[in-house]
Amino acid sequence: MIYHATDHDIDAAQIDKDAINIIQRLLDAGFSAYLVGGSVRDLLLKRVPKDYDISTSARPEQVKELFRRQCILIGRRFRLAHIRYGHKIFEVSTFRAGENEGDLIVQDNLWGTPEEDVLRRDFTINGLFYDPTSHSVIDYVGGWEDIHKKVLKSIGNPSIRFRQDPVRMIRLLRFSSRTGFAIDPDTKEALLQLTQEILKSSPARILEEMLKMLESGHSSGFFREMLHAGILKHLFPTLATFLQSRHGKEVYQLLTAADALMKKMPHDRKLTRAVLASALLFPILEKEIDFQFLRKNAVPNFGQVMDLSGHIIHGVLINAFSHFPRKLSSEIHYILSMQYRLTPLSGKRTHGPRLLRQADFIHAVDFLHVRATASPVLSEPYEWWSHLVRGADHHKHR
Ligand code: ATP
Ligand code: MG
Repeated sequence: MIYHATDHDIDAAQIDKDAINIIQRLLDAGFSAYLVGGSVRDLLLKRVPKDYDISTSARPEQVKELFRRQCILIGRRFRLAHIRYGHKIFEVSTFRAGENEGDLIVQDNLWGTPEEDVLRRDFTINGLFYDPTSHSVIDYVGGWEDIHKKVLKSIGNPSIRFRQDPVRMIRLLRFSSRTGFAIDPDTKEALLQLTQEILKSSPARILEEMLKMLESGHSSGFFREMLHAGILKHLFPTLATFLQSRHGKEVYQLLTAADALMKKMPHDRKLTRAVLASALLFPILEKEIDFQFLRKNAVPNFGQVMDLSGHIIHGVLINAFSHFPRKLSSEIHYILSMQYRLTPLSGKRTHGPRLLRQADFIHAVDFLHVRATASPVLSEPYEWWSHLVRGADHHKHR
């Protein structure tokens, strides 16, 4: 099905000029080329696409020959071209065939037609092409209708598609929390049946999807859906149990606060992954400190807070992902422990220049910003520290 310019209201002026340029160069060389996937979906939804993927009949080596030094070929299992324009990178992939019926994907470089290519994609709303020369949307999978009906639906048989690549289940919840679209009943049913398959996926890919979601501005809804679908308990059992407890809502409150800040902050001041991941763990730490110390009328010293944070990071993250990146976990460790310096249990704030010079200190203050957004009583200490950090920053730059 082809939808012409008169059928839709995609504003061509909105589309990245360099993406159009790449498509034009491929067309001039005699290949076919389209925008595909997330960017077409976002343009139809009137959202600004994060990035632009291009699908073409040109093979990776042919793309390389055309774009020379602007282009690098990546991936072994799934060969792709990355084309660089300034600081932007465009992903250019060759139409592929295969995969649709088989179980697990081994060979992924079997070239195909545009139609075969979209049949391998995950959800109908991600399976549209846009042809900038005729300004038309090309739909082989019913994605147009699903976007307008606000429905998320697997391309093909959902059970087969989830078994082939279980990460698609996480992607489904990612799109569902981001768009608010309803999940088609067959797709939902397959998801609920197959949650435990997620354990067959590569931990690195799963972790990447989770971290991306923390950065998305929709993390609170996403974690709620991951819990309710029954996926979270397979991936992060300790966190899943905590979220279901009486204190679980504190995690959602911090995530909601972080989401609000992420939407508001300028690009170069976005919260880091370590700050965002701290939102998952801080309420667990608070509860543990309450349980082990405060209830016994004791106050932990800083070393004890450090030990407990380390223990929780192990229990929640590292036990779940043995390859959890060391740098990330040590940043989280610092941010969590530091909260007890920023808002000491004794109520007595102390600071010295050494503290302000620590590289991650600003991130600890950023996390206090998240806490203060969730509980306004913390605004005063946040403003105080934030003022101090800005002052220290000012001196550094002089
Ligand atoms: P985002 O806006 O978050 O980038 P996206 O849809 O562009 O969303 P990407 O991960 O950038 O997501 O993937 C680009 C496209 O590649 C998707 O729109 C989809 O067509 C296809 N795709 C990505 N991952 C898979 C997968 N696991 N299985 C099938 N198709 C996939
Ligand atoms: Mg994308």
